[in-house]
Amino acid sequence: MLAEVITIGDELLIGQVIDTNSAFIAKALNKIGVSVYQITSIQDDKSHILKAFQEAESRVDIIIITGGLGPTKDDITKKTIADYFNDTLVKDLSVLENIKKLWKPYAIESLLQTNLNQAYVPSQATVLMNVLGTAPGMWIEKNDKVFISLPGVPYEMKALIEGQVIPKIKQKFRCPFILHKTLLVFGLGESALAERIEAWEDNLPKHIKLAYLPDLGRMRLRLSVKGFDEKKLKAEVQEQIELLLPLIKEEFFGFEEGNTSIEGIIAEQLTKLGKTLAVAESFTGGKIAESFTKNAGASAFFKGSVVSYATQSKIEVLGVSERLINEKSVVSGQVAEAMAVRVLNLFNADYAIATTGNAGPSKGDSDEEVGSVFIAIASKYKVFSEKFNLGNHRLKVINKGANKAFELLLK
Ligand code: ATP
Ligand code: MG
Repeated sequence: MLAEVITIGDELLIGQVIDTNSAFIAKALNKIGVSVYQITSIQDDKSHILKAFQEAESRVDIIIITGGLGPTKDDITKKTIADYFNDTLVKDLSVLENIKKLWKPYAIESLLQTNLNQAYVPSQATVLMNVLGTAPGMWIEKNDKVFISLPGVPYEMKALIEGQVIPKIKQKFRCPFILHKTLLVFGLGESALAERIEAWEDNLPKHIKLAYLPDLGRMRLRLSVKGFDEKKLKAEVQEQIELLLPLIKEEFFGFEEGNTSIEGIIAEQLTKLGKTLAVAESFTGGKIAESFTKNAGASAFFKGSVVSYATQSKIEVLGVSERLINEKSVVSGQVAEAMAVRVLNLFNADYAIATTGNAGPSKGDSDEEVGSVFIAIASKYKVFSEKFNLGNHRLKVINKGANKAFELLLK
């Protein structure tokens, strides 16, 4: 079963809005065994839309379109769909009812003709009622193919995909089972990992696909299978994982499932143990703190952080000794450790992380080269630090630095 996603909107082609709709739809389709053959973004332009429909129809069974259903003149998708199917727009009373319902909180006089026009749909279309917005979703079948048009607003699109589109696709098509199992691996680069597991990879059955996904100093290793015998496929993948795990015993960190993240695992462990964490961040500039506080429930373990960026603030705010900084350099293991111990005491926490380094692009207050960083971990009983070189791209150094800090804390 093959599908294509076409996202429509001028805003996508000038980089004003990032097309997140396609990724969401592709994921949802994949889950039910529908492979996405192509994703296309096009302008709100009739001839482009017609051409995209024609091409997609020649390649795949399911075509999902988002955007361009609004009441304004620039939104021309619905009219173009009607033309494509030699159809006319007819008033749908259930959609009209929905629009009026959505308008209840507002003065009825403000309901404009343009809003009411949204109740018109191609006569062949099955309406996918959008209770969150005035633009209805539409399902149109042609021979054995299906066109599904959805509003561009992400939360409206998502509700329609999950609530109506996916169930309807499952009803109409016999979809295979697709399984992706992703292993999170850290501390090994892509080539080192590939070499380590080469023999295992060579023996991997052909129908099990393997993908390496490097991401900021981590690797995601994805095993994928597709077929109709769910039980057998699951067992086969499990068997391969059991052969693989002993090869990466030290570096395997968990499976990527739902929201697994290393920060999430740290949060869970600290909360369970009733332990607390404080952070002193120089080159990571608050990234570590943000990684924890963006998740609800962080106050159970996260005491706080000091973004101590300027050298002087390490002395004045954290109380790191000026002599130590002068003697060892502000980017050094000793300073990172001193920052960690100071912030541990400042917040009276059980554990502390500290970072100092040079994120680049030019040299800062130290002679250390760009990308050189030190990360320290302190507890009441122990403090240690490690040096890393994280490359010369500033944002990468910051993000990788935060990842390294999480890994060290778990050690
Ligand atoms: P509505 O009538 O509910 O506005 P619509 O189909 O007209 O629906 P659009 O006008 O195309 O929707 O888009 C509305 C907003 O949705 C856009 O301003 C944009 O922020 C967002 N959006 C549209 N397409 C995408 C997309 N592919 N990915 C992410 N966001 C999108
Ligand atoms: Mg639009």
